[in-house]
Amino acid sequence: MKIPLLDIPASYDEILADVEKNIDQVIQSGQFILGPIVEELEKKISAYCGTSYAVGVSSGTDALLISLMAAGIGEGDEVITSPFTFFATAGSIARLGARPVFVDIEKDSFNIDPNRIEQSITNKTRAIIPVHLYGQSVNMNPILALARKSNLVVIEDAAQAIGSEYQGRRAGSMGDYGCFSFFPTKNLGGFGDGGMVTMSSEDIYNQVKTLRVHGSSLKYYHEVIGGNFRIDALQAGIILAKLKYLDQWTEKRRENAQTYGRLFKERGLTDQLTIPSEVAPRHVYNQYVIRVQKKRNELRSFLSENNVSTEIYYPLPLHLQDCFASLGYKKGAFPESEKAANETIALPIFPELTQNQISHVVNKIDNFFKEIR
Ligand SMILES: *Cc1c(COP(=O)(O)O)cnc(C)c1O
Repeated sequence: MKIPLLDIPASYDEILADVEKNIDQVIQSGQFILGPIVEELEKKISAYCGTSYAVGVSSGTDALLISLMAAGIGEGDEVITSPFTFFATAGSIARLGARPVFVDIEKDSFNIDPNRIEQSITNKTRAIIPVHLYGQSVNMNPILALARKSNLVVIEDAAQAIGSEYQGRRAGSMGDYGCFSFFPTKNLGGFGDGGMVTMSSEDIYNQVKTLRVHGSSLKYYHEVIGGNFRIDALQAGIILAKLKYLDQWTEKRRENAQTYGRLFKERGLTDQLTIPSEVAPRHVYNQYVIRVQKKRNELRSFLSENNVSTEIYYPLPLHLQDCFASLGYKKGAFPESEKAANETIALPIFPELTQNQISHVVNKIDNFFKEIR
């Protein structure tokens, strides 16, 4: 049995008729950039996330960048975020000349630890980017309270977390900006790059829309310097067709996570590994990440030899990346993030994964720990 980490074509039987209908509609319309299908997607995503507005953009990275630009972040500013995230979160801050200020994560959720944020706020701090890692919401209430108190902008990096919830609110609806990615491996993936910014302020909506088209709200007259951050109509059509299935896919991911948890417990494997905890329901499991204190790399090689694909998100925390050496962080600065980088491993969790395949993965992990015992 060969088990991939993600099987995108496995969804084609379900979605392809709808997808092709939308692709055909876009081709017949001759309008490939922005236009009515992008507007329809924006309406549906904002409704899905519980915000008043949404603006389709070129990627999740550009969603972060354009949000920071709209918030006026630049040279001399500091932005607080997690060092245990995909590069784009901190890369976008640095690209604008601002300084990423890292704050360590919580052990259980792998998300930024709200208790450690206040001590990192200075008179240069302008914003916080909480990242809902793996599909689970950050503990947002303390962050929103700090932001109000210190007058900070909150930009949620919800790239992995569409549909995830925190006390009844959806990811992307709690901060000033919500940033989403339609990269093919995300829970709602396109057939290429794409992203979305959600917001409930009309001012922010207009600013982001203007920045998306080179800072121009009246064609060829530029109020501010923006960029080309547009989503194309074909991607919007594909994502729109797939959106109908998102909730059932999320339920499948959640069921798969439960099955893993049950099997790991039945096999008595929870001494060797830690299963992910759902600290903030509803976790949408973009990734199912277990923690293995000992021999993580050996386990990964063993699974790979047995045709089970896994991945490490992420092997090197951002404060230790070469490109951020000038920030001056040393090894040991963020112990929880560094431990997570050494101990975590993501298992296949995609919606079409069968119960048989899950048992197979658990069997192999069981075999591994029996062999090394
Ligand atoms: C995927 C991802 C991004 C970037 O999205 P792209 O669409 O690939 O540019 C940003 N932040 C996080 C946490 C991500 O997982």
